[in-house]
Order: sequence, then C-alpha cells, then structure tokens
Amino acid sequence: MIEKFFMVYLLKEIAIKKFLTMSEKEPAQTLHQQGYRVTPQRLAILNVIEESDGHLSAMEVYERTRKILPGVTEATIYRNLDFLVDQGLILMAHVGSGKVVYESTRRLHHHLICRKCGASQEIPHTLLTNLFEELSRVSGYQVDTFHVTFFGICSNCQSE
Ligand SMILES: [Zn+2]
Ligand SMILES: [Zn+2]
Repeated sequence: MIEKFFMVYLLKEIAIKKFLTMSEKEPAQTLHQQGYRVTPQRLAILNVIEESDGHLSAMEVYERTRKILPGVTEATIYRNLDFLVDQGLILMAHVGSGKVVYESTRRLHHHLICRKCGASQEIPHTLLTNLFEELSRVSGYQVDTFHVTFFGICSNCQSE
C-alpha cells in the first residue's frame, strides 16, 4: 500500500517535472521544435504574456500586442491565443463571472476568488501537492491541470 502510494507520488513528481522542463524552454523554441511556424503574431503574444506578471484578458493581450504589431486584428489575437493554449505554451484560466484570463506557464499556482467582492489571491502549487497526490491515488488519473480556481468568501467579507 505504502509502495503504491509512493509510486503515485513519483509519477506525479515526474509529471510536474515534465511540465516544468517544458515551461523552462523558450516558448518560441518549443514551437519551432514542434514543427509550427513562429509567426510575428505568435511571438508578440508570447512576449506580451511572458512580460506581464499577472493575468491578461484577451482584450488586454490585444491592446498590448497592437503596440508591438500595429494593424494586428482582434480575430488574429483570439485565434493565436487558442493555438498557444492548445500547444501548452500559455494557460487559460476561468476566474469567475465568465471571465477568462491568459498567463505564463512558468509559475505553478492556483487561485482563490471571493464570490462577494471578487478579491483574488494566488495559492502556490506546493500548498496543494498532497491534494493532487490524493486525487491521483483515488482516481487513478495522472492529473495535468496545474491551474485551479477555488471560489469562496474572503475573510473581509465574512466579518461583514
Ligand atoms: Zn493564475
Ligand atoms: Zn470578499
């Protein structure tokens, strides 16, 4: 039993390491290695997202990319965002109220969002390591979602 648990733990560690190694590579290099064209649009979007520390909406990505590539259309941005998400080079996260944000894959983290005031807080992945292991153990799944959003009521709103 303990051995089995350890196996799952090891598998999990390997999965995370694989993900991390992938993220550590330059995204443009990864694209090239996967045989995709590194277009100026894709490069510009990747740069915009890598340079921002937080979470950008598609509109924010569009506005920032437009400064680098004047004339780029919104449709192009949306299409390329979808493509980069599919390739695992950026993350798309649902952060409540139908809002979707895009972010870099370089920092493993999760989110807590307050249903009342909309406050959001980042949770380091290390806090959830046990939960992920247990999830893999009981389900047999090799979980590869590294960006989870939890909803709740923040401490400020609770004391109101
Ligand atoms: Zn995030
Ligand atoms: Zn709140």
